[in-house]
Amino acid sequence: MAHTSTPYERFKTLLEETMNHLKLTLEERKPFLEPQHIHRKELTLTRDDGSSATFPAFRVQYNNARGPYKGGIRYHPLADEDEVKALAALMAIKTAVVGIPFGGAKGGIQCDPKALSKRELQDLSRAYVRAFKDHLSPDIDVPAPDVNTNPDIMAWMRDEYEKITRTYAPALITGKPLSYGGSLGRDTATARGGFFILQEFVNLEGKDADDLRVVIQGFGNAGANMAHLLHNAGYTVIGLSDSHGGIYSEEGLDPVRIEKYKHRTGSITGEYCEGSVCDIDKMKMDNVRTVTNEELLELPCDILIPAALDNVITEKNAGRIRAKYILELANGPTTPEADAALRKKGVTLIPDVLMNAGGVTVSYFEWTQGRSGEQWTAEYVDNELKRIMLDAFRAVRKEVSRSGLTYRQAAFVLGVRRMLEAMHARGWISDATAIAAGSRGRRRSFR
Ligand code: NAD
Repeated sequence: MAHTSTPYERFKTLLEETMNHLKLTLEERKPFLEPQHIHRKELTLTRDDGSSATFPAFRVQYNNARGPYKGGIRYHPLADEDEVKALAALMAIKTAVVGIPFGGAKGGIQCDPKALSKRELQDLSRAYVRAFKDHLSPDIDVPAPDVNTNPDIMAWMRDEYEKITRTYAPALITGKPLSYGGSLGRDTATARGGFFILQEFVNLEGKDADDLRVVIQGFGNAGANMAHLLHNAGYTVIGLSDSHGGIYSEEGLDPVRIEKYKHRTGSITGEYCEGSVCDIDKMKMDNVRTVTNEELLELPCDILIPAALDNVITEKNAGRIRAKYILELANGPTTPEADAALRKKGVTLIPDVLMNAGGVTVSYFEWTQGRSGEQWTAEYVDNELKRIMLDAFRAVRKEVSRSGLTYRQAAFVLGVRRMLEAMHARGWISDATAIAAGSRGRRRSFR
């Protein structure tokens, strides 16, 4: 497999394989190769000390064949155009896989939000909306939170947009606070959506929750909510981590207790260690040991759930992974090289574009509520989320059984095919021989 280095190159590797598998014509391939629009701006911020600072900002609109562009805005020192491009493309595949009427986009500001005061953060967020206002609207491009952005930021952004455009626009942006147009169930949607898939997968594999040991990397929105759901459903959560490191117990960890530790000490390991000095007796008493994040991924377990960062399972550690199943709640945790190595080892992996699509699915519910003025109950949100996630999982699994593809390959085939069908329906692709992906016969072009 070719060496891939940047996030967009990694996306392209999988895309090329998918397009070969579907035998797309040159004309059909073209709209997938690059985003439809890349918007770049420099945002200027007056700092609290009176000085002025500028920050590169992006909005990448990959494809809107199936509906308005949709995707979060990330604040991070390393957020750059290539990363935002890759995330925008993955969003388009994801919305197609779960069959919601959106395209794919992503935004980013290259900044360290932890170094900004709340006033500065608000001004920067409002500046983002002023810079990109012509490209955003409930019918054109609908942003949402991503890494280091939250409901407060979404509220400031909606407010800024409504002020500038003198409109009422609750459907402009999703992930808003409940008091200002948010949806019930959005806060736990990503973990819940993944949990529905995991339960279905475990049933189909003929396994029992009681017999399964789970390790989760990341104890934030996605990881912590998943840990609670799994613990309550009878799974044994044996390993958990955050950015400071992890803990492991063969007997199982109680996520409620761990959450209290984290709250009290600022980290999962803080109850046992201060820096590198650890209380061995206390660890022995609780039957836990601390592990690094690298060690955590290599623990013997049945299910490994990366729920923190991208690029954590690579060709370097894939050979040492001992999980039987990997379920990707994080975006892009596994490199294509690691994917191939894991497949050889017989590890089954459920990919990000399916596994973590619960977040964007409930964002779609929020957008729908914003447009209609309705307020859905938590129960209705949960039932609809379950229906959509299970439909998507079954469609991907059908492709797996039919073509012998991995779940990631099958999800990409499904997503690309649905996008292509929309592009044909809209007359964007003129090739008369095109589409008929199903009637072209199958070709094993994935490695
Ligand atoms: P978050 O900021 O709430 O939590 C991230 C967690 O990862 C924190 O516990 C943090 O301590 C931990 N972490 C950071 N660096 C780490 C490291 N080096 N090793 C181990 N852990 C580390 O973020 P989140 O919303 O839970 O998102 C996590 C992942 O899930 C991201 O890849 C994100 O793109 C993806 N995701 C989230 C959502 C959502 O709705 N929250 C939706 C789709 C995808």
